[in-house]
Formats: sequence, structure tokens, C-alpha cells
Amino acid sequence: MSATSSILDWTQIEADAERGIGISDAQALAIVRLSDPQDLERLWQVAQAVRREHKGNFVNTCGISNAKSGRCPEVCSFCSQSAHFTTDAPKYQLKDVETLRSEAKQAWENGVREFSLVASGRAMTNRKELDTMKAAVSAIREDTGMQTCASLGLMSKEHLAELKEAGMQAVHHNLETARSFHASIVSSHTYDEEVDTIKAARDLGMYTCSGGIFGMGESWAQRVELAMELRELNVDSVPLNFLNPRPGTPLEENRELSAEDCLKIIAIFRLVLPTKDLIVCGGRSVNLGERQTEIFRAGANGVMLGNYLTTAGREADEDLQMIEREGMVIRPPPHKPHPPSLRPTVRVEGTDSNGVA
Ligand code: SF4
Repeated sequence: MSATSSILDWTQIEADAERGIGISDAQALAIVRLSDPQDLERLWQVAQAVRREHKGNFVNTCGISNAKSGRCPEVCSFCSQSAHFTTDAPKYQLKDVETLRSEAKQAWENGVREFSLVASGRAMTNRKELDTMKAAVSAIREDTGMQTCASLGLMSKEHLAELKEAGMQAVHHNLETARSFHASIVSSHTYDEEVDTIKAARDLGMYTCSGGIFGMGESWAQRVELAMELRELNVDSVPLNFLNPRPGTPLEENRELSAEDCLKIIAIFRLVLPTKDLIVCGGRSVNLGERQTEIFRAGANGVMLGNYLTTAGREADEDLQMIEREGMVIRPPPHKPHPPSLRPTVRVEGTDSNGVA
């Protein structure tokens, strides 16, 4: 028996994961070394079984509004919105409430059930901007009942509490990468500052969404390190982004991920974090191409629909067809009856013809 096969006792791994116990870092690194097609097939089988055990065939569908774009004083090497790089990313101030509200309605009609307002900048501390965000969150909740989320940089517990009071349920804040690689990618704030925002949201009882970007020059050991850090932080949801290098950024030449690498990353994260939501976000089409249909088989239970922050996504119909073809259904939001004008236009399990749970 090889060293790899002795550490990867799939029967035990699957049984543990079904009880919510994730794999060790040594096991995750053994998975990295798998290359035999039969071994990989076994990996996808186990990852899919664990995903089914904890998430059924539901897909979390996330959508975002790039609510405020560009001119960011921070220095994050992957990001075209940093004012330190010369890029073609759009630059505008915070959108008004009606614009955000109508974007959310459009996203709902395209199948999105969890909607996030994303703003560039170190942190949203401006009173007028915070009040706009609160009003937008309330309006979106009222209109659609969607899970509302925001990604506003390094946020204090006080400001998050205000947003929660307005109806915001989730906070998104990526760690971006492993602690041991973070300073190579982000030079304007620390890893611990990222962690503090997540802890503040968690302390308030909010749904926490935090993940990273892969393909920035990090090692496989650092990808596993990130997974372990997120397990330690006990986040609810992990967005997995695959670098789509932006012209003008320091990482514009980084093209290091194969489709199989992306699928392996998804499977490793599923087995490290068996009970958590795993959402495939930016860089999906660019890095996975035709193999993006395999993300659910690799263990993901969520996908971002529509456009990303500064790059275009696929047409909504293509993603909705992919979800249906893979035998998955969109997970309804925490419910209240949907207004007649916003009845679902896509199949939602567990709801009547009016989209009411
Ligand atoms: S990732 Fe966020 S904080 Fe970093 S440069 Fe981009 S917008 Fe600014």
C-alpha cells in the first residue's frame, strides 16, 4: 500500500465527513498529489457524497452589485479597483438606493437568492454611505425576501450591528489567501484586520462568508492552510475565486491554474469543511471552461450568478440550465411570501406556484 493510499482511507474520510468531521492537513496534501484517473474519480465520488449528505441537491445562488467601484486606497495585488494600479476598472461613487433596489430585483428574476452589496475601499465609515446601505438592505428585504449580504471592507462591530438592525443577515469578507502568503498580496492591511471583521460579524450572530482567491502564486500547502484557517474561524460560507488576471495589476501575467486544479481545490475545501456552504465565484468560466459543470460533483453547493465585480459573468440562462442539467435546484431564501410581481421565474424546490414556501 502506498503512503498516499494509507493516509487516504476513503471509507473513513466519507464516514467522518458525514458526521461533520473534516480531513487533516496531511490528508489534504495527499489529495493534492493524486493524479491517477481512478484516484481522482474516487475523490469526486466522496466529495459529491459529502456535499449531498449536508446540502442535498440545493444550490445557493449568489449575486452582487458592485455598489461603489474603484479609487480604493488599499493595495491588493489582484484587484483592478486599487488606485495604485492603472486599470480600466469602472470608477464611481456609491449607487443610490433605487439603483441598488432595482439591481436586486433584476438579480432575483435571474435566479439569485442571496444578494450582496459590495463597495470598494478600506472600510465604509461615512455616515451618508452607511445610511444608504441600510436603506438599500431594508428595501431589498422588503421587495424580495432575499438573503442580504454586504462586503464593505474592514468593518467595526458597531457598524455591522447597525446594518444587521436594518435587515442585513450576512457579511462577506475574504481572507484572500493563507496567513503565510497574505503580506505578499496585500500590503495595506494585515491578515489579523481581515480576521477581526469576520469575528465581529460572527459575534453578532450574522451569517459569515469568507474565502479567498486561488492562482495568485500561493503554494498548495498555503491553499490547505487557508482552508484550515477558515475551519478554525467557523465561517458559514466559503467563496472560492479563481484568479482572472486583470490587466494593469501586479498579477496580470498569473495564469497558473488548470481546470483540474480548480476542481481539486473545491474537493479539498469540501472535505476540510464538510458542513459549510462552498460557493464558486469569480474566475469560474475563465479557469474551468467546459469543466465548470463539474463543480457540484467536486463538492460545491453554490455558485455566483450574473456579473462579478469588474468582469462579466455568463448569461443567467446558461447557469440556470447548468444547474438543472446537473440535477440541482435553487435553494429558496429564508422565507416570506414573494410579492406577485416577483414570483420566481425559475424552479425553486419546496415552494408553490406563487413561490411561497
Ligand atoms: S480588494 Fe477591496 S480593499 Fe483591496 S484594493 Fe480591491 S477594493 Fe480595495
